[in-house]
Amino acid sequence: MSQDQEIGLKDFHWMMDVLQFIDVGLVILDKKFNIQLWNAFMQNHSALAPSDVLGENLFKTFPELPEAWFRRKANSVFSLRNSAFTTWEQRPYLFRFQSYRPITSIADYMYQNSTIIPLKDTNGEVQHICIIIYDVTEAAVNRLQMQAANAQLERLSRTDGLTGLLNRKTWEFELENEFKRFSRYGQISSLIMFDIDHFKRINDNYGHPAGDEVIRQTASIAQNCIREVDRAGRYGGEEFGIILNNTPPEGAKVVAERIREKIQGLTVTYEEFEINFTVSLGISGIETTFSEPTHWIDAADKGLYQAKRSGRNNSVIHDPQQPE
Ligand code: GH3
Ligand code: MG
Ligand code: MG
Repeated sequence: MSQDQEIGLKDFHWMMDVLQFIDVGLVILDKKFNIQLWNAFMQNHSALAPSDVLGENLFKTFPELPEAWFRRKANSVFSLRNSAFTTWEQRPYLFRFQSYRPITSIADYMYQNSTIIPLKDTNGEVQHICIIIYDVTEAAVNRLQMQAANAQLERLSRTDGLTGLLNRKTWEFELENEFKRFSRYGQISSLIMFDIDHFKRINDNYGHPAGDEVIRQTASIAQNCIREVDRAGRYGGEEFGIILNNTPPEGAKVVAERIREKIQGLTVTYEEFEINFTVSLGISGIETTFSEPTHWIDAADKGLYQAKRSGRNNSVIHDPQQPE
């Protein structure tokens, strides 16, 4: 063997070692998608040795691989001789490998970026392609955790901490939108404003934390009595507003009565106390005479005031023809 040949062989061995131990997955395929090279990364993560997979068809060996999609991608690499890249955002993984990281609340499997590159033979023909698999679990998990945290922050900034209902600012924004929709499409919606009766007594008799529990359970009943498209908000301490989409006042009255009766039947248990209480509700449909959203709140408030005056534990539709 000449010295040149010997160096050439050494190069080849070194290169094979590098391919084996490099920390990315390498898979070489021929035009029939039969596996020609399977490096140590692939072996470690798949628990399949080269002897298990070499010469085998990729799709038979990995039935979970999206065959139609992969064929399209690979065929374009064969014919155009350009690389093709896929990120974990487009497809979380190509090969379903277990993730070894302890941060597995989000990642049960390894997130992967992958590149398919054309391999030219000595004639310049592309008879083989190489898939390169990068483990990007850490970056993906960081990104996903960041997105989850942002969504949580966004939700917190929109909701009230005690009840989980929309906070006043967000609820008023929703009310304004509903008002604009009415100006534009003339769709009748209704507003319920309601307030816990003699709430000061609850605080005085059972303490502020008990009062908080009453507020929390009141909100929960209100939320459960309305549709998903309706929006309930905490307007003040123990005052709530509900926007009922596409609902005339008579329909809102049915909802208001349901809330009133449920709360009348509720007993809030707090420490050794059993607390019964009621609510009063005012209702107003949206009117063409309202020039701004606050007029709508004022009208529902007038209904609420009438409900209080009539002895509480009552719901009243405000009649725009008869103010007060
Ligand atoms: P009414 O039947 O006329 O509504 O009588 P009321 O005693 O409920 O009177 P009002 O609605 O004016 O009472 C509001 C009280 O609610 C005053 C305040 O001390 C209490 N409050 C406001 N916010 C909170 C809160 O977040 N938690 C608790 N526990 N109490 C609150
Ligand atoms: Mg009040
Ligand atoms: Mg009250």
